Amino acid sequence: MGRYPDIRHVREIKTESLLENNVLFITMCSCRYDTAENANIPTIRKLGELRKAYTHGDYTVSAHKSFFNGRLPVVMDDPKLPFYSEAVSQLWRINSGRPHEADKKRFPIILKENNIIEGYRKLGYKIVGIGGVSQFNHGSILRSYFNKGEFSYYGTDMTEEPLEPRQKEQFPFNHLDNLLKTIHNYDRWFLFINCSETHYPYDIGDGLPDDVLRYFDDIKLKLNLRDNKDEKTNAEINKEKNMDSKLHSLQARALESIDRGIKKLLYNLPHNREILTVICGDHGENFGEIFAGKQRWGHLFPSKEVMEVPLVIGQMYWR
Ligand SMILES: [Zn+2]
Repeated sequence: MGRYPDIRHVREIKTESLLENNVLFITMCSCRYDTAENANIPTIRKLGELRKAYTHGDYTVSAHKSFFNGRLPVVMDDPKLPFYSEAVSQLWRINSGRPHEADKKRFPIILKENNIIEGYRKLGYKIVGIGGVSQFNHGSILRSYFNKGEFSYYGTDMTEEPLEPRQKEQFPFNHLDNLLKTIHNYDRWFLFINCSETHYPYDIGDGLPDDVLRYFDDIKLKLNLRDNKDEKTNAEINKEKNMDSKLHSLQARALESIDRGIKKLLYNLPHNREILTVICGDHGENFGEIFAGKQRWGHLFPSKEVMEVPLVIGQMYWR
């Protein structure tokens, strides 16, 4: 086992050398803020201050298009910190024109291309992507940010995940050896990991409780934008089975599994450069809360629970 890194939080990050940093960018699908707040995630918490941020998209594609455009989820509450709140400074800035002198302070990493992945690629960084949910499957819009050979996809072939338990091999952190082999071969790298554990059905490859599984037959009719006309209301079902808290706890357990995966990764990262680290939910999730007059499940609508995501930014270094 390798050495564990030391961490700088954003107030201590040396912004002038950020462009020399390798990058670890982790998105956790459907992970809403209060899941992170309540889960036992010591590694993620150590990597920077855990803050509630507002994302720019209510589903995977719109959220990631925004991130790859340099717009991370944004913290609106005080205290406002660099990179967490655009009002203070923006970490990644896509600049199609000429950067003004004054911009250089607010935007430590100004990339000339029209997305951050292409920007880092042009600077000579090896791009490594791994995931994830099916929006990163072959031929998808989000995969088009990655060149051939840059992304390893381990999810299902479907355009939308079925509500059935997944296999362990479908999760990126179960492929760490391959990933580490690749980045150890390069001096500079930009590593993007899309975690699917926190996406429904919130399992981590070891099955789901029977009562939750049975409920998925019903949730299929109501998930995301589906509008089931069945008289048996969500509220009745939820009251009966306490499904909101059961599913929310499953998402917390899934996040804890991601946290253990990140810990394993940290022990084995190359030490040649400091590593800029960004971890966030892409969008959140509803577990039966009321939005627009109805109980809602899943995402794809701009409810409070879908728009509030965890955000952690820091810098790893080795003494
Ligand atoms: Zn997502």
